[in-house]
Amino acid sequence: MNAEIIAVGSEMLTPYRQDTNSLYITEKLNGVGVSVDFKTIAGDRRKHLVNVVRHALGRVDIVVISGGLGPTEDDLTREAAADALGVRLKRDPDIIAQLYKRAAVRRWTMTRNNEKQADVITGATLLPNALGTAPGQWIDTVFGTHRKLVMLLPGPPHELKAMFEEQCLPRLSEILPKRHIATRVLKAAMIGESAADTKIAPIYTQYKDVETTILAHMGDIEVRLSCSKPIADLAQARVDELAGKIEEELEDFIYSSQGETLEQIVLYYLEMRGATLAVAESCTGGMVAERLTSVSGSSRSFTGGAVVYSNRLKVELAGVDPRLIEQHGAVSRDVAVALAEGIRERCGATIGLGITGIAGPAGGSEEKPVGMVYVAVSDADGTEAVEKRFPGDRRSIRFFASQQALDLVRRRLM
Ligand code: ATP
Ligand code: MG
Repeated sequence: MNAEIIAVGSEMLTPYRQDTNSLYITEKLNGVGVSVDFKTIAGDRRKHLVNVVRHALGRVDIVVISGGLGPTEDDLTREAAADALGVRLKRDPDIIAQLYKRAAVRRWTMTRNNEKQADVITGATLLPNALGTAPGQWIDTVFGTHRKLVMLLPGPPHELKAMFEEQCLPRLSEILPKRHIATRVLKAAMIGESAADTKIAPIYTQYKDVETTILAHMGDIEVRLSCSKPIADLAQARVDELAGKIEEELEDFIYSSQGETLEQIVLYYLEMRGATLAVAESCTGGMVAERLTSVSGSSRSFTGGAVVYSNRLKVELAGVDPRLIEQHGAVSRDVAVALAEGIRERCGATIGLGITGIAGPAGGSEEKPVGMVYVAVSDADGTEAVEKRFPGDRRSIRFFASQQALDLVRRRLM
């Protein structure tokens, strides 16, 4: 079965509010094997709402509508859904009584407009709202010649979640065939989305029963695999098989296959090798240290280091020979190497990391443009350095530099 989610509310057509309910509903529907094929956001106009609901009824099996169930003029979901389904609304005296009772308990005066929350679509099952006033509605009907499920849910996210979890999901599970979903998340560092996709698309397109999504972040991609089958082991086997082939293709670009972050993996490798790491950071200003120390337990392998932003501190704290800076400039391969070696020695660490670069937007030159970054890693076997030209603004260049640095340490430890 497939679904469409309709988020109702003019506020979500402004720059200030975003529809997040549909993300939650999508996750839950996917979990029971229902794919979400369309999402629509509609303002609080009755004519538009009727159109949107009618359109949805024509193209999916399940229509989930969120919002517009309250008491105010602009809450029109009930009316619109009834129009679209071609049925009537009936005001339910029991609900009205409950609304008055609820208001009395809270010492509110209930205004007349609240009564419209008691309008029920013919044939609907009411979904009590434990956390708010407006009840939801569940409609299991035949539209044209097809069976359709329509759900009307309140807009406030906590009300919607409680109602969906406690009342809609159990009903759905009864109707839908049992499915088991297996997932895997592979992560790869310092490879672009299109480069990765060129390598792996010929593989994952062969697995029609596994849904593959590639999410790109800065200096990082995530390959998400998901497979739904009646038997759990079968779903897991398919996902694992495809994951194995993708890992083979992307080789050492892949740093994690269970969703761990790059900093977690670096710390994991350090601990496994009984090694420690010290950093001397210039253009990243402590970002690498920040990322590493955000992981609990990092003190076992991360000794610390220094933010050596000025030339003076590169010399005083990381022991860089001032003549190197004079000869090659602070942003150079030689200085990165000296930073890594110096900080390693001064901190008594197994591995030293040095980072220097031009984050911009000012300070670039023809010879050393904005985005030029040198990263060096040093251990008992020697020192290696890489030169990179990262794209983007200051924020992305600095993040790329920290990502490159962590990845270099990871590769050194592999
Ligand atoms: P109420 O009785 O509170 O009016 P309602 O069902 O009429 O409930 P709306 O008026 O549409 O719901 O929305 C109430 C609030 O819920 C909005 O102000 C907004 O903060 C939040 N909300 C509504 N729809 C969404 C959505 N799709 N994603 C996230 N938040 C939402
Ligand atoms: Mg409302």
